[in-house]
Amino acid sequence: MSHTTQVVVIGGGRAGLAAGYHLRRLGLEFVILDAQAAPGGAWQHAWDSLRLFSPAAYSSLPGRLMPAQTGQTYPDVQHVVQYLTDYEKRYELPVERPLRVLRVHRDGQLLRVETDSGPWHAHSVISATGTWWRPFLPAVPGQAAFGGRQLHTVDYRSPADFARQRVIVVGGGNSGAQIAADLACDTDLTWVTQRPPRFLADDIDGRVLFDVATARLRALEEGRTDTGGVASLGDIVAVPLVREARDAGRLKAAPMFVCLDRYGVVWADGMRAPADAIIWCTGFRPALSHLEPLGLRGVRGHIATEGTRAMDEPRVHLLGYGDWTGPASATLIGVGRPAREAAREIAEQNP
Ligand code: FAD
Repeated sequence: MSHTTQVVVIGGGRAGLAAGYHLRRLGLEFVILDAQAAPGGAWQHAWDSLRLFSPAAYSSLPGRLMPAQTGQTYPDVQHVVQYLTDYEKRYELPVERPLRVLRVHRDGQLLRVETDSGPWHAHSVISATGTWWRPFLPAVPGQAAFGGRQLHTVDYRSPADFARQRVIVVGGGNSGAQIAADLACDTDLTWVTQRPPRFLADDIDGRVLFDVATARLRALEEGRTDTGGVASLGDIVAVPLVREARDAGRLKAAPMFVCLDRYGVVWADGMRAPADAIIWCTGFRPALSHLEPLGLRGVRGHIATEGTRAMDEPRVHLLGYGDWTGPASATLIGVGRPAREAAREIAEQNP
């Protein structure tokens, strides 16, 4: 049996919930389809020591402040999952889970959303499926020959899994720095980054990053020069764990190696580091395979958007996915604005 509604939101993480909040405010009929068995999106799967890089109030979705976590300036993962769980309940958001969207097709005036438990038809679709589900690993010669464990950020949980092992962490972004800091005490760690790590000043946290991203948005809207936004400041937020490891001299980065062999990694000058495990903290790509039938990908696989709306299919909006649909849309607090814009446009298209 097929269900019909005005809007199908695909994904029930922070982006999907922010979309739900604004759709509800505008009186649209909608459903949120989420592949996870429980609320919280990707946060349910993050490693134990991960902390938000902004205080709670600066990590809020529209309508409801994230409460502070007792004894912690920067909330932990459980606190974020609890907040998202409460948010969903408080606004009575209609989330169907676990339910995976397989494909979205054009079907006359409507879009047909095929799931693993039957189809939905909708006038509009908001895709908010995040990036966690598409880990990216660079191709490095010799990868298949390595005899130890290879993991990605998404597989990492805690240092206990690597106690006293020789571990290579690859990646100079926030995930790489935080996981390297987490492992620095209990393992024989080598942290490898493509270029020397760029730490943000210690007093810069999510609050400043949000202000900088907002200033970039304004500049772009007013046709002024792109300020470069958050990327112009550096890569790594000095959260307490990272700051502590860096200040203790435990976070020294080596340059990128050129290949792997059976025992570990090899640098261009012939230096080697044997390893039991390599953790690739090398980023993510948008999880968008469900949109393939719509043929929206242009050059370099990118879907062209105006705001959140897909240029080649105005009934489809993309929400979240890094800063693709707005300079601050990668963060919890920053997704509120593009979510509001997407809901407003959909309301105009479906009077
Ligand atoms: P997700 O949380 O991934 O939610 C997407 C949902 O869609 C999931 O439930 C998924 O199961 C579901 N889904 C996917 N595909 C389908 C499908 N085909 N059918 C149905 N459902 C599907 N932001 C901050 O503001 N502060 C921070 O400190 C911060 N730290 C971060 C640290 C890390 C390591 C990472 C990776 C991100 C961090 N972010 C932070 C960014 C952002 O808040 C998170 O990435 C957030 O989880 C993204 O939310 P989302 O809703 O876009 O995606």
